[in-house]
Formats: sequence, structure tokens, C-alpha cells
Amino acid sequence: MNQVYDPLHHKYRPQRFDQLVGQETIATILSNAILYNRIAPAYLFSGPHGTGKTSSARILARSLNCLVHDKATTIPCGTCELCISIALGNALDVIEIDAASNTGVDNIRSVIEKSRFYPVQARWKVYVIDECHMLSTSAFNALLKTLEEPPPRVIFILATTTPYRIPPTIISRCQRFDFHCISLSIIRDHLRFIAQSEKIDITSQALQLVSQTAQGSLRDAESLLDQLSLLPSPIGINAVSNLLGIVPEVEMLDFVSSLVTLKPLVILETCRSLLDRGREAISLLTGVTAILRDMIILTVAPERPELTSISDESWSRLIALTNETSLQRLLKWQNQLKSSEVDLRQSAQPRLRLEVILLSLLTEVDYQPSHTTKLPYGLKQKTKNSKAVNIDPILVTESPVSSFKQGVSEIINNAQELSRLWNEILATFDLPSTRLLLAQQAHLVQVDGSKVTIKVSENWIATLRSRLPLLENAIQNVLNTPKELVLISVNSKLKSQSIPQYSVPFVINDVSVPNISLVHNNSNQNTGFLALSINDIISSGSPIKFKGSSNLRPKQDEELKSLANFFNGEIILDPDEEIS
Ligand SMILES: [Zn+2]
Repeated sequence: MNQVYDPLHHKYRPQRFDQLVGQETIATILSNAILYNRIAPAYLFSGPHGTGKTSSARILARSLNCLVHDKATTIPCGTCELCISIALGNALDVIEIDAASNTGVDNIRSVIEKSRFYPVQARWKVYVIDECHMLSTSAFNALLKTLEEPPPRVIFILATTTPYRIPPTIISRCQRFDFHCISLSIIRDHLRFIAQSEKIDITSQALQLVSQTAQGSLRDAESLLDQLSLLPSPIGINAVSNLLGIVPEVEMLDFVSSLVTLKPLVILETCRSLLDRGREAISLLTGVTAILRDMIILTVAPERPELTSISDESWSRLIALTNETSLQRLLKWQNQLKSSEVDLRQSAQPRLRLEVILLSLLTEVDYQPSHTTKLPYGLKQKTKNSKAVNIDPILVTESPVSSFKQGVSEIINNAQELSRLWNEILATFDLPSTRLLLAQQAHLVQVDGSKVTIKVSENWIATLRSRLPLLENAIQNVLNTPKELVLISVNSKLKSQSIPQYSVPFVINDVSVPNISLVHNNSNQNTGFLALSINDIISSGSPIKFKGSSNLRPKQDEELKSLANFFNGEIILDPDEEIS
């Protein structure tokens, strides 16, 4: 009474080579081999799952053995005893072996032994070894001789998804057929045919999305349609998106649009709304990457829409979006997103990570001068041997940027942008001491096409010079291009008024608080106050003052500098103030 349900991918499995979907060349060659009686002793069918390898093996077995015909045929009946038993996988002479569970040499020896007997019922004995890459090396070796000179009327069909794991000695003894991924339009048309035959009411956008998701595997597409067919009619694109947890194409295009038009707020809001609706961060990122890829393809091959995975309905929208940006930017974004997928999968806070990844795409666009990638080779050579240039501090304070403006088309001298860039450069330093030294005693004043200009407190310029290669590396890492480094020495008193303070990411545990003893020397006429201004860590606003001597011994001077560094503050000598 209870009839066993036949899944769609079984029900619509091809019965003849002319029904094989999306593998026309292979179907033609194998059909002709049957027609002209040129059957090879061994075949290797390789390709992704769900592309027709096992189906082709069964069709070949049927074509050779159909009882309705007295010789091999390209149109097996599908109804005779043998055709049916082959389709069910229980024919005596068509033996399917799952190599994944029969990896050993003993299994293969037994197969070879049995292959010597003539077929019982059929004209040809057919061995189908599925997932044959799982066989052990000794099993492959045992098979070699038989593949080369098989018993008469015996053929071996090896099937694999990973042909590179098959020994070359085996491959060279087989006729090899590479089953490629089935194209999106072919899958979509086939699904439409099934939907009509099965009276499944599904929209064409939904079919398109199912076909896209299958990524070239017809079996996956059919299984998905099978699942969807249980939903109430009509089945729309939202039903498919909900089942798969993916972001619909239209929403994805809206999202990429906010990226192209550089709207960070819209990006954040869309991110939040999609994630709140239960979408995975990773599927959002994959969606962005897929659309960017389609935009790149559109730029280089505008007359080939079939190369993209975008639907016909969204094609004009994609063109409009692509026109708003450049190929260079698209390639750069793709490059930036390349490693972020792994990042996101490993992240404990995918939502946060996703937002940072997407917003960082915009940041790059903002501060990266467009011509930096076109730097002539000579300039890079020069940068390799760059040296610190010491410019007169007075001249610099009068006109800090005038000397760099000639011949430079794009200059970054906006304080906010420079501050952000400087923080990014500092964050690349592993050593907290270097990071703190730079944060406190130096700051970025300008970045242009070829040079990076940094102001350094005059007391520290020698220290910084000794760490110049580190700084050059950090700048190159952040800007993705080597730059000539110009260091400008500034008077520390002057600096205390003009240098903005930067917040630096650092771990307090990494730094040990220096142990210092402060000396108050009353006998010295030049006695003054040592003021330690703490800008970032202590927010009270009033500077903390240490009583001390202005002519401290060198060791103490160093210790005070370290202490000042640790607190992100600085040492100010103020001889005019009275001792309280
Ligand atoms: Zn038959």
C-alpha cells in the first residue's frame, strides 16, 4: 500500500546518452563507441559530484547489455529485466564497488579473480569502481595489469571526484572523460522541465536561485527542488532564500550599491537588518564577493552575460552599478576580501568582524592615492636607500607643507585622516616600546605620492633613526607601497603645544613601570618642576607634577622618559614656577 517515494534525482536520472544533461561531448563519444563497437577496456570518469559520472556508467552498462537488442545499442529499452536490474544496482554482471569502503588490496584481488568468469546473464561484465581515488597504492598496483589486459567482455569504469589522486600509471591505461560543472542555464531549463512535469508551481527567479546554489551539480539542484516542492504554492524566491539562509540577489545588489557609492551608514544598517533576519555573516560576505566578481567579468567581457551568475532581471542593474566604479577598485576589493572569508569563519564575533571587513573597504578608498600603484621603478629604488632628512625646525613651523607641494597631485594633510593613518601604522608594531615612543614623540604631518613626512621631537630623532627600517616597513605595509621617509626635527617645547595626542592600542601588561627615584636638589639654583602631563590614560585634565631637578643624571633622565612614555605623557621643564 505504502509506495516508496522516488526522489526527483532518481526519477529523472537519464536512461540513455541522449538524455544525459549538460555533457553532450561525452555522450556523443560514448554513443559512437557503442555504435562502432569500439569499447575500451577501462574508462576513467572524473569531475565534480552530481555531474553525471555514475549515471553515464550505468547508461553504458545498459547500452551494452539491453536484452531487447541482440547487440550493443544507444537506445536501451529501460524495461527489460537487465535494464531494470542495472538501474536498481542489483544486476549480477554489473558490479558497483564503493572504493571508499573497499580500499584494501584484498578487495581488488577478489574483484580481479571474479572478473575472469564470463558474465552470467549479460553480454558484458561491467565493474564500476566509485570514488576510486580511495583505493590504496597496493590496490591500484594490483589493478594495473588487469586494466591493461582485461579478460574478454569485461570493462572497468573508474569514477572519481579528485583525479589528481589517481596514479598516472592508472590514468594512462584508461580512456579519460572529464565531466565538467553543468552550466547555470542548462540546470535551470532542466529544473523547469521537471517542475512542469511534476506540476510544481515555482517562480523563474526561484528556479534561477536554486540553479545558482547548486554550483554546477544537477543532482544538488534536483534534491533542492524536491525539498522546495513540499512548500505551499507558489514557491517564490523568498522561500528559497529562507530555506538556504542566503541573501536574495536584489538585496545583495542594494548592498553592493551602498558599497560602490561609499555609504558606510547604509552598509551598517543593511548588515544589521540582514543578520537580524537570521542570515549568516559568511553568506553575506560570499554574496558581496560573488557580485563583485560578476562586476569584474562585466567590465572585461560586457557581451558575455552567461559568464556571470546574475539573473537576466538584474543584468541592467549590474551594468549601472559597474559603471559607477572602476575595475581597479573592484579588483582591489576582491583582493582585500580574499582572506577575509577564513577570518570571518574563525571569528568568535562574526557580526563585528563582518562590519569591520566591509567598512575597511571604504577606508582604503578614502586615503589611498590612486596613483600610488603606478610608482615608477626608479622611485622604489630610491626609497630603498632613503635616509632621514633633518630640516630646520624654524623653517618647518613657518611653512610645514610648502616644500612638498610642487609636483604632487594628491596630498593627505587633513589632521583627522593623518591621525587615523598614523594609528594604523603604529598598530603594526609588535614592540610596545617602539609603538609608544612613536605615538608620543612623533606624528605624521603629510603623505603624498612619493613621500611620508613625520615630525619628531628633537630629543628622540636619534633614537628613531636607529629604528628607521622598522618604521619604513610599517609604512609600506599600511600604504601598500614604499615611500621616501622624511623626518623633521622639532623643538620639544614647541612640540608640546602643537602635536596632537594619539590613542595607541597597547597592552599594559607588556610594559613594566620603570622604578625611579626622584631627587629634589635645593642647593641648585636652576631647580624647577618636572611636570608629567598625562593626556590619555588619566582623564582628570590636571597635570601630575613631580618635584625634581632640571639637570638630572643621564640614567634618571632615561627613566623619566620611560615613565613619561608609559603614561603617554611628556616631560616639561618649567624653571619659572615657584616651589610650593
Ligand atoms: Zn533493455
